[in-house]
Amino acid sequence: MVDEKMNKTNEEWKSQLTEAQFRITREAGTEPAFTGKYNDNKENGIYHCICCNEPLFSSEDKYDSGSGWPSFWQPLNNNKLQEIKDSSHGMVRVEVRCLVCDAHLGHVFEDGPQPTGLRYCINSASLDFNKNNA
Ligand SMILES: [Zn+2]
Repeated sequence: MVDEKMNKTNEEWKSQLTEAQFRITREAGTEPAFTGKYNDNKENGIYHCICCNEPLFSSEDKYDSGSGWPSFWQPLNNNKLQEIKDSSHGMVRVEVRCLVCDAHLGHVFEDGPQPTGLRYCINSASLDFNKNNA
């Protein structure tokens, strides 16, 4: 469970994030396909929320979807994400946000691999990768 929501002003987020990170996580932007730094990342580790450092996804659940964005077939913990129906851009999609700080992460689609059949399509700019050295 999340104890308390993180509430920062846009000014506070701007001082903490790069311009691209701010645009994507706080204004629900999307990085261009195949440009994100983690799209091809195959190292072992944990992907944290760039805004609040909450661990969100594991490299064990990452797969190559060919979409151009880091893709995961399950999150580290369902309780750390919120899924919101998004009807913008003439499409009905399900937006994925960090539950702790409300950062926009990406979208979840139902065309992923088994066993979940889900594809969490996440912007690299929303994530901070912590390599597992063990
Ligand atoms: Zn967060």
